[in-house]
Amino acid sequence: MNLETIAQAAYLVAALLFILALAGLSRHETAKTGNGFGIAGMVVALVATIALAVQREISALGVVLLIVAMVAGAAVGLQRARAVQMTGMPELIALLHSFVGLAAVLVGWNGYQEVEADPGGAEARGLDALGLAGIHSAEVFIGVFIGAVTFTGSIVAFLKLSARIKSSPLMLPGKNFLNLGALLVFVGLTVWFVADPHLWLLIVVTVVALALGLHLVASIGGGDMPVVVSMLNSYSGWAAAASGFLLENNLLIVTGALVGSSGAYLSYIMCKAMNRSFISVIAGGFGIEAGPARDTDYGEHREITVDGAAELLEDASSVIITPGYGMAVAQAQHGVAELTRRLRERGVQVRFGIHPVAGRLPGHMNVLLAEAKVPYDIVLEMDEINDDFADTDVVLVIGANDTVNPAAAEDPGSPIAGMPVLTVWEAKNVIVFKRSMSSGYAGVQNPLFYRENTAMLFGDAKQRVEDLIHALPAGATAAASASAR
Ligand code: NDP
Repeated sequence: MNLETIAQAAYLVAALLFILALAGLSRHETAKTGNGFGIAGMVVALVATIALAVQREISALGVVLLIVAMVAGAAVGLQRARAVQMTGMPELIALLHSFVGLAAVLVGWNGYQEVEADPGGAEARGLDALGLAGIHSAEVFIGVFIGAVTFTGSIVAFLKLSARIKSSPLMLPGKNFLNLGALLVFVGLTVWFVADPHLWLLIVVTVVALALGLHLVASIGGGDMPVVVSMLNSYSGWAAAASGFLLENNLLIVTGALVGSSGAYLSYIMCKAMNRSFISVIAGGFGIEAGPARDTDYGEHREITVDGAAELLEDASSVIITPGYGMAVAQAQHGVAELTRRLRERGVQVRFGIHPVAGRLPGHMNVLLAEAKVPYDIVLEMDEINDDFADTDVVLVIGANDTVNPAAAEDPGSPIAGMPVLTVWEAKNVIVFKRSMSSGYAGVQNPLFYRENTAMLFGDAKQRVEDLIHALPAGATAAASASAR
């Protein structure tokens, strides 16, 4: 068996490992194993690719460049992965997507240089004889387009998620027509390029795609960012698949398609969770005209002390905790887990209600709670718990805001109208842990904070949760302490 065949077999094994990784990552219990499969798949893929490069008699300079690129990439990747805080994860992911996009653009341009720009290029690669020259040109054009959209789109997403630019939507007049126009220009130019591959066409499509990526993401408002991030994830997969066709690398095609389709499916789930139309997102029109955030006077809010909150919890027999981005910022998950343990020891039924876009990346809250060893069986999805709030004594809203905003359900004029939320206000008492009355990521006021059954417990969530643990007498069950009184 020659090396080429062995490498292709290794690619197949790596592809299977990637599929197992995705399957593993879909559940808490198997996520770690899934990650292991992913790492193993990547190692197999790298070894096979290097072996293939050596077999194809790569130049000495090529070997040096390969090693330098791998060592530099691994060092930067390792350093970033070690240093990144969980709250900084989404922007890191967005930045990584931009690299995939840029790589696809460079691979596309390289493909053009090797074939279309070289008079004997198509013949040397046997494309002319097979009548595949047009297909190669289409691959170049599509790869460059998807790559460039992903590149600038991801950079804007990175800037928005890291709060380096404002997250409010850019509202150019006729923004949907601009996006649609860019898509039509792309289709028209592709046909032209396939028939007659001029350099200027490639330059124009690169510029149009860079502008489209920029505009697509800039025109998305804060609350819709989760959908954009998962769409960019999907685009980066398709960009990688396009590069796979150009580089004639089957594994890159398979892996790109896996990332592209799983990202698209995640976007679909996110769209459903956010009550947005998947088709309008896919079409790039986004069709969502967010209204401006208004300043409504909801009256006075009520504050509660730590002792007051402890008293409410002492008398409670059912508690639901709804964590949000603030729990991640404060790193309050360990305190929350300890509070849960104390309450359960007292015989209180404690459950968690997780909104699909709580935090700043899909599954953000689940990861934090798993890290703090909160039992999985009491961590429920929004749909599983929303009917139970009405029968709940106390809801602890820990650093959540948009995901518990009743305006989404009750105010059709709200910028987040229609987004399903955790209906915490139906509970007997709601205690909101946050530092001030300021709004959440979507920049929308929250009428929950002014409801009669809501009380604000101001301060850093980690500190307040710890104070609450100290204020709660340990041991006796709620029922026992009630009978003792
Ligand atoms: P929000 O962003 O709506 O609100 C978080 C709240 O946490 C803020 O109001 C803030 O209030 C509070 N907070 C911040 N730091 C602390 C702290 N140290 N201690 C206590 N409170 C703190 O969070 P949600 O999780 O409810 O909603 C997520 C939002 O993010 C949604 O709009 C979603 O669309 C968006 N998003 C989600 C992504 C995802 O994939 N999950 C990706 C991108 C965006 P204060 O400053 O007063 O303390």
